[in-house]
Amino acid sequence: MLRRLLTPTSSRRILSSTIPFFSKPSLSPFSSLSTSPDPPCSESSTVEHVQEAAGTTISVDRSALFTPLEHSPEPTPDSELVKHLKSVIKFRGGPISVAEYMEEVLTNPKSGYYMNRDVFGTQGDFITSPEVSQMFGEMIGVWTVCLWEQMGRPEKVNLIELGPGRGTLMVDLLRGTSKFRNFTDSLHIHLVECSPALQKLQRQNLKCTDESSSEKKAISSLAGTPVHWHATLEEVPSGVPTIIIAHEFYDALPVHQFQKSPRGWCEKMVDVGEDSEFRFVLSPQPTPASLYLMKRCTWATPEEREKLEHIEISPKCMDLTQEMAKRIGSDGGGALIIDYGRDELISDSLQAIRKHKFVNILDDPGSADLSAYVDFPSIKHSAEEASENVLVHGPMTQSQFLGSLGINFRVDALLQNCDDEQAESLRSGYWRLVGDGEAPFWEGDDEETPIGMGTRYLAMAIVNRSQGTPAPFQ
Ligand code: SAH
Repeated sequence: MLRRLLTPTSSRRILSSTIPFFSKPSLSPFSSLSTSPDPPCSESSTVEHVQEAAGTTISVDRSALFTPLEHSPEPTPDSELVKHLKSVIKFRGGPISVAEYMEEVLTNPKSGYYMNRDVFGTQGDFITSPEVSQMFGEMIGVWTVCLWEQMGRPEKVNLIELGPGRGTLMVDLLRGTSKFRNFTDSLHIHLVECSPALQKLQRQNLKCTDESSSEKKAISSLAGTPVHWHATLEEVPSGVPTIIIAHEFYDALPVHQFQKSPRGWCEKMVDVGEDSEFRFVLSPQPTPASLYLMKRCTWATPEEREKLEHIEISPKCMDLTQEMAKRIGSDGGGALIIDYGRDELISDSLQAIRKHKFVNILDDPGSADLSAYVDFPSIKHSAEEASENVLVHGPMTQSQFLGSLGINFRVDALLQNCDDEQAESLRSGYWRLVGDGEAPFWEGDDEETPIGMGTRYLAMAIVNRSQGTPAPFQ
């Protein structure tokens, strides 16, 4: 059944180097808003419940979900993070932006959501494509080898992954490309990861040997590849041809939210009310992020600007993209970004998910994941603005991307060499990666029906001009 998709990586991976891989709140004067924002709305309502053995893990594909918000049944004592957020607001003498709130909630060094646990594991809240099927990381491997070929097969390449989670994508990429020794020999892997707990897990899953006394570097015995860990992209050494992978990383970057009011566009802020609860308020005057709002609006169409009552922007997304584009522009190579998002201005998409259900964004911060739709036009324009030497391709849907890279051949090859249980797991994993909506072949429990992520996830590439157009964006 579907739970097999979440059984440990090692047992569900079909280790097939023999199977051909390449078939080719409020201080006046802020105006108060409701403490319960509208739930995120979207055209399709898809919550996936995935049962795992006795421990019962529920995992959720976070995109395109709609459910009523859940509140904690009873007030609980303030957590460390809540105390911290309240003291920031108190000593700042006023509310903080949604972006600052989001950043603290996700990555506060002591108690941020990602920092101390495996959010994908038995306590997990959601599932990502690399965890759904080994084929995802393998296809990213195909993309990476193709780009490396277009780069002229350099002898040394920095392969950077932003936000590697459990490291599953990189494990599947290395295993899938293991026959291409010249490629794997060229790799220097750099993992950009803020969470010490996840860094540890990545080290284990990449089967790293402790040849160095440093916690920040090791050798992966999967391909004899050096692996380095960094907290930010800036820390990764430059001057070497570079390939960057960012899967479900951008959606965790902090967003600022703006709302149209009789006073014009106001930034939505987080404050503490007289009842000591967090609440949203509107800024009385322009905030520093308004500069980014103006910039983002210059990239919008007049129709987009007119119809929106809310706008969500991510300066971090713009700055990160500029850093990536500059690197690729000067060092050569390219970046692949895959995430759920839209090829248009984003209105109001920030959502919080805890234990497979939507919860209020302000409820018990640090205990739920926060994520927002990725604004793909903003990535494109930021990259083009940062470097004349790069070209941006896409976005295209994940389904088109994986299909054009040959996932159909891969699933067929794997199906030749597996038992019935593995075949069922492969088919539902395949559907999840490339399908759209509910899997028509499903005969199990309704609530376990695999839901396709194929059209809600988009892929975009930023590539050095001299490399030509990358597969499969031709
Ligand atoms: N790419 C993985 C995990 C996605 S979850 C997958 O698809 O399965 C987001 C990942 O980014 C986690 O590993 C999280 O710890 C990391 N992350 C989130 N914000 C970050 C930041 N600001 N800096 C570095 N890593 C971050």
